[in-house]
Amino acid sequence: MAAQPNVAQKPIISMEDDEISDQESFIEENGPFRSLSQLLEPAHSAHLAVFLNFVLSNSDPSPLLFYLITSLYKEGSVKDMRKWAYEIHSTFLVPGAPLLWSNVDESLAREIDDTLQKENDKVEFLRRVFLKSRNKARDYINIQLKEFQVKRTAGLGTMYGPTDQQLQNAKGDKVKEQRIVEETLLPKLQQYLKEIDDGSSKECPKKQALCSALSTVIQRFFVTRSNPNSPVDKVHHFVSREKSFKSRLMAKNRKQDILGHNLRLQPYFEVTRCNHCQNILWGVSPQGYHCSNCELNIHRLCAKDLKEECPGPAQLKNAEGSKIGKFIDKLSTRNHHQADKTRKHDDDGGGGGEDGFSIGEYSFSLEYHDLFVQFVRRT
Ligand SMILES: [Zn+2]
Ligand SMILES: [Zn+2]
Repeated sequence: MAAQPNVAQKPIISMEDDEISDQESFIEENGPFRSLSQLLEPAHSAHLAVFLNFVLSNSDPSPLLFYLITSLYKEGSVKDMRKWAYEIHSTFLVPGAPLLWSNVDESLAREIDDTLQKENDKVEFLRRVFLKSRNKARDYINIQLKEFQVKRTAGLGTMYGPTDQQLQNAKGDKVKEQRIVEETLLPKLQQYLKEIDDGSSKECPKKQALCSALSTVIQRFFVTRSNPNSPVDKVHHFVSREKSFKSRLMAKNRKQDILGHNLRLQPYFEVTRCNHCQNILWGVSPQGYHCSNCELNIHRLCAKDLKEECPGPAQLKNAEGSKIGKFIDKLSTRNHHQADKTRKHDDDGGGGGEDGFSIGEYSFSLEYHDLFVQFVRRT
């Protein structure tokens, strides 16, 4: 008796009943879709899979994927969290990120930038870094849940998975739950992977980010059989210490020498843009190549299109020849690297906050301000 209290109650009666009591049990069993906290209970994983399928098909999936992935994030050490925080931040929150959600607040992203730059060695700061954005995501998900309830009450909900009755019957049965998860979510993942393979999708970064996020969630939130051919293992995962898939794939391309550039794949920890396409270096690390000669940062894919020769040390590729470029030449390598990091908020009171200033997309700390002024006066 005590082993399965949930299964023993209502469904047995309602299955033998007429339409009216079916309707009653339908409404009552809608329960797990009523709140995110219920949906996240381990016993409701099949319900969560169905709701995830709904947001993937019919709404913006980013807040839910973000919420689920950030709930795994705090499991890490300081070192892990630094790495994972940038992976998540660069994929979901930074302007231009592939899975940026519609109502995300730029000031939220800015606060996270600050923490990742200044407090990245403090465990208590890192643990809290996504607190506000998770609250925002939860508000958004609750609105999506309401939409979904309306759809299910109108009888349209089964477009995204089994009926409430079937979900209720699967509860506590790992095999049935797993089948529901696989039947609702794996076709989606396969579809995205196919679109990437075909090269047909113009939204390639978005699809790649979706694949990584969805695979992470499938693997970490749902019971899945280990299967060497599973699409879940075809992509790299967020908040993962395993180096398996991606590092094996990229081992041969870890180092590249192109046109004098000494390119090495590396993880990034602060918001950094690609010097070739100006988009953010996003996703699971390593996010891009860094040239140890000229401090160039570039996406792996963009490296294939690199046409400019390496200008060598103390030359920033896209500042070459300009006043700022010459100015940068005068700075040490360390500051050089600092200047390379494009601040995304040009209107942010001088880009560098209280102790800095910015010119265009470059930002400098105040100690270089006088040096810069002298330089401009001389030229
Ligand atoms: Zn270079
Ligand atoms: Zn690029």
